[in-house]
Amino acid sequence: MFVKCILSFFLLSSTAKALENESIYFAPFEIGRKFIVSQGFNGKETHNDAVNRYAVDLVMPQGESVCAAQTGEVLDLYDGRGWFSTDYKKSSFVRIEHSNGEITDYQHLLPGSIQVSRGQLLQAHQCFAQVGNTGKTTGPHLHFAVLKEKNGELVSIPFKFIDPQGRAYTPEYLQWVRN
Ligand SMILES: [Zn+2]
Repeated sequence: MFVKCILSFFLLSSTAKALENESIYFAPFEIGRKFIVSQGFNGKETHNDAVNRYAVDLVMPQGESVCAAQTGEVLDLYDGRGWFSTDYKKSSFVRIEHSNGEITDYQHLLPGSIQVSRGQLLQAHQCFAQVGNTGKTTGPHLHFAVLKEKNGELVSIPFKFIDPQGRAYTPEYLQWVRN
């Protein structure tokens, strides 16, 4: 029994370590939900520059909860409410920085739905905003990317999602992402 406990402790800590060091993230929505990928890595519509290349678009209805893909601190945000509520040219977004130095990026949020401020700590799975249709979109969806600073610029990097069984996978076009 004792040996078994020790073993599961090591297994658990190695999983946590993998999450921290290998760009593996939870799906950025509520547990128990699933959504389909409408554009993956290198998507020819809009995932073709440094900051967007390794992004995924998830088809989610407007108002659906957007949740932290890992524990971290709110680094930056833009909420186009108030005077800018009709400016749908500008994407409302939140960026969260994690202990491994990577930043998760959540775009096209619903103006007025962002419930966090800069510097706030969020736990993994904690929901903080709603899906919207702001910025360059053809319909409500969530654009999710993992960013890293490279030569003073933020660039997107390949990442994996972790499924409810704990398996890590690269999200592909038309694949269901489950949490
Ligand atoms: Zn996108």
